[in-house]
Amino acid sequence: MIAILKAKRERNDTQPVYWAHKSEKFDVNKETAQRLGEEILLGGNIRLLPGATPRIGEVDDEGVDRLVIRINEFKQTDGIDLYHALSFPMQNVIACIGSQGPVPIFDKLGVQTISCTAGVCKVAKEGDRLVLLTAEYESTRKGVYVVGGAISPSYMKICEGAIQEEKHPNLIYTAINDAYRVMEAIRQKLGM
Ligand SMILES: Cc1cc2nc3c(=O)[nH]c(=O)nc-3n(C[C@H](O)[C@H](O)[C@H](O)COP(=O)(O)OP(=O)(O)OC[C@H]3O[C@@H](n4cnc5c(N)ncnc54)[C@H](O)[C@@H]3O)c2cc1C
Repeated sequence: MIAILKAKRERNDTQPVYWAHKSEKFDVNKETAQRLGEEILLGGNIRLLPGATPRIGEVDDEGVDRLVIRINEFKQTDGIDLYHALSFPMQNVIACIGSQGPVPIFDKLGVQTISCTAGVCKVAKEGDRLVLLTAEYESTRKGVYVVGGAISPSYMKICEGAIQEEKHPNLIYTAINDAYRVMEAIRQKLGM
């Protein structure tokens, strides 16, 4: 996002970059906040849309799919809702769906997750659910392994009878490394 902002500024593109977030607060790390602040001081044109509700499914007269971001909703007594919204052509939209593991998929697969309690996790936040894995990335459902981006930025590692949060950077290298270790573990199990 900061790279897009910078590229637009350098090309004197005055159209803003819109950053919509479902929360009222934009929770960014110190480095991102600093870089964003610098970019804004240099003239980067960004509009923040907190508390935004995205809606897909709208198609305009030219057949272009659009993303509608509702900013305010006004419930009326007659049952008709009024809302302010911005509509963006989908090809200009970058969706950031977060970096937490796909918990609903884990639930569907019967793969166990554990909720972080206060003071236990350093990477994950309190209440985040982390998948429980062995050192070979096998879940509590035997034969189901979870690797790569699905276990980033951290997971719960079962090691020598104890369970602790394990940091797991979301990188191509770690994803490939995980897969290699899983392949090795399966190969050994099969006695190959
Ligand atoms: C903008 C961006 C820049 C990045 N830059 C770097 C970088 O410079 N260097 C680096 O090392 N890493 C970078 N990363 C991280 C890197 O992309 C990931 O670590 C890596 O792709 C993880 O690989 P993966 O195979 O685990 O997951 P992914 O590559 O995310 O693959 C998961 C696949 O599963 C599919 N999928 C999801 N849900 C379902 C479902 N329900 N059913 C079927 N399919 C599904 C997805 O469509 C996707 O194709 C970047 C990531 C992003 C988003």
